[in-house]
Amino acid sequence: MNVDYIIVGLGLAGIAFAEELSKHRKTFVVFEDYSQNSSLVAGGMYNPVVLKRFTAVWNAKEQLEIALPFYNKIEKHLNKKYNYKIDIHRVFKSIVEQNNWYAACDKVLLQDYMIPKIIKNKNDCIIAPFDSGKLSHTGRIDVNRLANDYNKLLKGKDLLFEQKFDYEKIEFFDNNVTYENVKAKTIVFCEGFGVKENPYFNYLPMREAKGELITIHAPNLKVNFLIKSAIFILPLGNDHYKVGATFNWVDKTKSPTKDGKNELEFKLNKVINCDYKIVDHVAGIRPTVKDRRPLIGMHKKHKQLAILNGLGTRGVMIAPLMAQKLFRNIESDEQLEHEIDINRFE
Ligand SMILES: Cc1cc2nc3c(=O)[nH]c(=O)nc-3n(C[C@H](O)[C@H](O)[C@H](O)COP(=O)(O)OP(=O)(O)OC[C@H]3O[C@@H](n4cnc5c(N)ncnc54)[C@H](O)[C@@H]3O)c2cc1C
Repeated sequence: MNVDYIIVGLGLAGIAFAEELSKHRKTFVVFEDYSQNSSLVAGGMYNPVVLKRFTAVWNAKEQLEIALPFYNKIEKHLNKKYNYKIDIHRVFKSIVEQNNWYAACDKVLLQDYMIPKIIKNKNDCIIAPFDSGKLSHTGRIDVNRLANDYNKLLKGKDLLFEQKFDYEKIEFFDNNVTYENVKAKTIVFCEGFGVKENPYFNYLPMREAKGELITIHAPNLKVNFLIKSAIFILPLGNDHYKVGATFNWVDKTKSPTKDGKNELEFKLNKVINCDYKIVDHVAGIRPTVKDRRPLIGMHKKHKQLAILNGLGTRGVMIAPLMAQKLFRNIESDEQLEHEIDINRFE
């Protein structure tokens, strides 16, 4: 089998790169072993404002300009809905925070999203003595559904190998590589935290963070916006809400834990005071990096190997732009910005 690219991993990074290849009529196959599930459990929110400090997310404008049309195009291609517009209500902790909100509303970029007024809390189920501020034009990508549908799409075209990619089996030639019976020009590794097992790129300084989420059924809550406090409460429809997420830099497993659940429940009980039942509990490892920037580029010695990783806590917004940049770097030698280029770690 002769293809232009092999992609390893079909989370958000792998999907974004596969779409970039399809756009440019390049051929590819994907290897996926289901060892990681960050994309499958992700809240999927996109929002250009750092809700802790009311500042702009790094490079948010450029990311959203590429990301929104990207998901739009996939929706049309697969004839399914993945992008749900959802406002965010940021619960204030104090009067000081209310004032900071007004100040931030005047900033360029943020003013398109942050509404300069205080939203009075009229919902008895929500505990918000200082009320909240509202963000609009924000939303959620149903990443789990997208990833499952994309997986099926590739499977239907015989482009998906459901197996662990074994790094030892790569054979290098001058302008290409072979992996078992597949010959390709380039292999792009999109393994998320799985990169730790990749001998060509595991020197890169990940600072991965495990995250846990619960899904609750809360029939009296009746909210159609995301509530952001110490945790987020994200409406899924039919009185179900995703609640998350924890950050754990020690545990490297993807199994949900009792501690994670207790922490989420403890925080949830400080934001809502109505009855709820936990109906699901999941966990995954966010591929975050020491300097909180993506990991993009080609291997210094083996030009046939490239990486698209380090999407961190905001894969939904970052993945499509990074896929575009990596493709241009490989195909047209377009230089990568230093802050995303893996060479910054040499
Ligand atoms: C709890 C939680 C909540 C989150 N919420 C949000 C959010 O609201 N908004 C947002 O933008 N982001 C969120 N994120 C972050 C987001 O999920 C990540 O940025 C993104 O999913 C990373 O995608 P990825 O493709 O790089 O990695 P992954 O999704 O981990 O995909 C890597 C894939 O590679 C496969 N793989 C690995 N090694 C091999 C191998 N050797 N052979 C074959 N296959 C292999 C894995 O099985 C996996 O499918 C959240 C993450 C977590 C954990």
